[in-house]
Amino acid sequence: MRVALKMVGLVVQKYGGTSVADPDRIKSVADHVAFTKRHGNDVVVVVSAMGKTTDNLLSLANQVSEVHPGREMDMLLTTGERISMSLLCIALAGIGVEAVSFTGSQAGIITDTVHTKAKISEIKGDRVREALAEGKVVVVAGFQGVSTDKEITTLGRGGSDTTAVALAAALNADVCEIYTDVTGIFTADPRIVPQARKLGRLQFEEMLEMAGVGSKVLALRSVEFARNHNVPIHVRSSFTWEHGTWVSDEKSQGDSSMEEPIISGVVHDASESKVTIVGVPDKPGISAALFEGLASSNINVDMIVQNTSKDGLTDISFTVPKADMKVAEDIVSRVASEIGASGVTHNSEIAKVSLVGAGMKTSPGVAAKMFRVLADNNINIHMISTSTIRVSVVISGKDMESAVRSLHTAFGLDSGSAYSAPLPERK
Ligand code: ASP
Ligand code: MG
Repeated sequence: MRVALKMVGLVVQKYGGTSVADPDRIKSVADHVAFTKRHGNDVVVVVSAMGKTTDNLLSLANQVSEVHPGREMDMLLTTGERISMSLLCIALAGIGVEAVSFTGSQAGIITDTVHTKAKISEIKGDRVREALAEGKVVVVAGFQGVSTDKEITTLGRGGSDTTAVALAAALNADVCEIYTDVTGIFTADPRIVPQARKLGRLQFEEMLEMAGVGSKVLALRSVEFARNHNVPIHVRSSFTWEHGTWVSDEKSQGDSSMEEPIISGVVHDASESKVTIVGVPDKPGISAALFEGLASSNINVDMIVQNTSKDGLTDISFTVPKADMKVAEDIVSRVASEIGASGVTHNSEIAKVSLVGAGMKTSPGVAAKMFRVLADNNINIHMISTSTIRVSVVISGKDMESAVRSLHTAFGLDSGSAYSAPLPERK
């Protein structure tokens, strides 16, 4: 493991909201930054807003108006990260570490012009490089940039992860450490499966699938960046500072005889709703009309199932984020009447449960076994979708916890030692 053994280099450290939630937490982050710096590393820190700051700012906006102009929302939300970046630099000054903070704009993080969910198009990073060359620790406000129209933008909720990984890629950092309130990526959510285990490592594509089906630890876009630019991520806790989970393109730990785990984790997600359009005429162009409407409103459709038609009519079901349900419903009802469907129903009492593992590629029968386990637990499957390394099912929300627990046990994750061999020491 080149990365794990390398002791000195350029480290990007990202601290999430809980890691900088109060003055004591900020001081302990400052100590850890100082520790990393004193071990000879160049350090770039990316911070989130303190604790629930972003939620509180959003609630203030809700209290003054129902209309939220994107530009002004971004001006508002970016203040949260400015508070933590400057406080961290002040804390570092207090322990004799020279540090300088930059907003996203000052750091040269250039985005497109889509307010509240901008995408990074380029990172200039000149001031970051200069400050590093002067021996300073650089602290960058997460979750924000400046658009090609010179307006302040934000990257969508959880966007500080993306800031950190994108900066790590642009600066060619040796590692991007993501400090959070959990000690790593687990085989399942420990709140549901107490015997869930921390994974020692994961491949980018596994992490991508996990983030895509509901794991909240890393923002999906940050993982895409990491994979595209091959930035190793170390997810770890700022509460215990213990070693966490490495996400990289490493397939095995040098021991080629070691068997690849078939399943790395069980992921659940209760944040989606299911919409069904009933009595849809079965002819070309219907799905296009429906999903184009949703896409143009930026609604992310996840699973889609179309039944076989009977008497020229069919049903189409799909899932959308609960948060988008209101907008989706309006569009779907409109399209449904345009195409002559007989009705629309929706169900928010659903959950998606997914098995993810790179070893699935070469190991047939995972889906069959998953369905058998669910059947044995009397759990009905509403929808199914798969990729080469993932199987997902939509089930009733009330069955979610028992599905996650029984799959975790059935696929050997309660104890499987092959899945989380420790990595070489690195602080
Ligand atoms: N503060 C922002 C949020 O709460 C960004 C982040 O924490 O990553 O979504
Ligand atoms: Mg986060």
